[in-house]
Amino acid sequence: MSIKWRLTLWYVLILGVVLAGFSTFVYLGLQYSLQSSRLAEDRDLAQTMAQSLGNEEATFGAGFDLSDEELIRQIRGKDVYLRLVDAQGRVTKKITVPFGVPAVPEPRAPAGWVGKASGRHIVVVNVPVYRNRAWSGSIQVFERLDTLDEFLAMVRRLLWLGSLLGLGVSFAGGMFFARAAFRPVERIVDEVERIGPHELDRRVEVGAAGAELQRLVGTFNGMLDRLAVSFDRQRHFAADASHELRTPLAAILGHAALIDKWGKEDPEVLKKSVAFILKDARRMESIVNDLLLLAGTDAAEAPPGGAVGLREVAAEIVADARILAGERVVDLRLGGEVLVRAERDAVRRILTELLVNAVKYTGHGGRIEVTVAQQGDRGRMVVSDNGVGIPPDDLPHVFERFYRVDKARSRRAGGTAGGTGLGLSIVQYLAEAYHGRVSVTSTPGVGSKFVVEFPLFVGDEA
Ligand code: ADP
Repeated sequence: MSIKWRLTLWYVLILGVVLAGFSTFVYLGLQYSLQSSRLAEDRDLAQTMAQSLGNEEATFGAGFDLSDEELIRQIRGKDVYLRLVDAQGRVTKKITVPFGVPAVPEPRAPAGWVGKASGRHIVVVNVPVYRNRAWSGSIQVFERLDTLDEFLAMVRRLLWLGSLLGLGVSFAGGMFFARAAFRPVERIVDEVERIGPHELDRRVEVGAAGAELQRLVGTFNGMLDRLAVSFDRQRHFAADASHELRTPLAAILGHAALIDKWGKEDPEVLKKSVAFILKDARRMESIVNDLLLLAGTDAAEAPPGGAVGLREVAAEIVADARILAGERVVDLRLGGEVLVRAERDAVRRILTELLVNAVKYTGHGGRIEVTVAQQGDRGRMVVSDNGVGIPPDDLPHVFERFYRVDKARSRRAGGTAGGTGLGLSIVQYLAEAYHGRVSVTSTPGVGSKFVVEFPLFVGDEA
């Protein structure tokens, strides 16, 4: 069942319950108050008569004049009947009661109630008459409530009619408003359905929707924004990756062709070309490995990390870097050991990437400094150099995949095994995989400073 229907039906049902409760309450209240007022009137009548009877000297009821004007005036026009019962229980006088009268159980006790006779409501009143303090009989008054019942029946019909009318109107109104409320939803659904896979730049119009739907549309459009950005990034990434792989692939094909043509006769060509092919194939392999790493293939299984000594790793990597650094000075400043929660290989890779970059982008005679220290609840590794630096415009992008400040510069600096623009992406990826972070500050011509931080290792807490 659609929400529209469900809403309307619930709405009608609740209104129905409210109306039924209200009507019953009103009806019973009205019935009670009307019947009680009749009962009170009849009791008054009976009591007045009982008093005058009590003062009578004659035999009980003998002087009771049923043509008494006062009395007739009181009871005329009403369905009121009365009778006198003496101490022996005999009816001594009566205005004929034209309907079956229920037995009055104890004529001595005053009583009054609304009962039923032949399916109709009647008021029954019994008032004892005392003469000289002795009970001498009773006066009983009966009143048929036919007109009252008719009136109440009409009230009942009106309440039914009113309730049914109210329910009908509320059903129609509920349906109308539910339809109106859901019209924007249908419009939004239509619009969303029209957005094809290549139209991620299209957005859903907010239009005159309610606050909730505006939020929905806002959320949806926000999601489209993010999808579009990520889609774009994927496309660029694929294009960049293909482009990056094409160069070594072309070189491999070229050398393979050379071997095919001259290699069989000329061992020199063969040797050189095979060497080139190996180098380019290795470059391709390293790019593919980096891409796989960045694609997050292993991210799901990224181990929680154990204790890694930053000082120890730094000492080891810096020793290797010194060989690479040539005439550049690589200065290592170590305090006490700093244990962080990470993976040893990841930390090594990070430091290697940063040091390779520092060497690459620092001229001969330059100075590179590596510091390891603890700061608050974090272990910190800083790699700074006094190399070419990074222009402010490029600084926010250096961690992006395949981003190079200057392709020519990067390649030149790196020689034939020049950078791919993936190094810093990997640094960031690995740092974040272990809840760490990396940041950079740099001034062109002065130098750059990369800071990597990891959470400290605080024992194997559960
Ligand atoms: P690449 O493989 O080109 O070095 P990276 O992702 O490692 O790619 O670095 C991105 C860019 O950031 C590089 O092209 C380079 O221009 C710049 N960069 C990285 N480290 C340094 C540094 N220490 N000094 C100056 N520029 C740097």
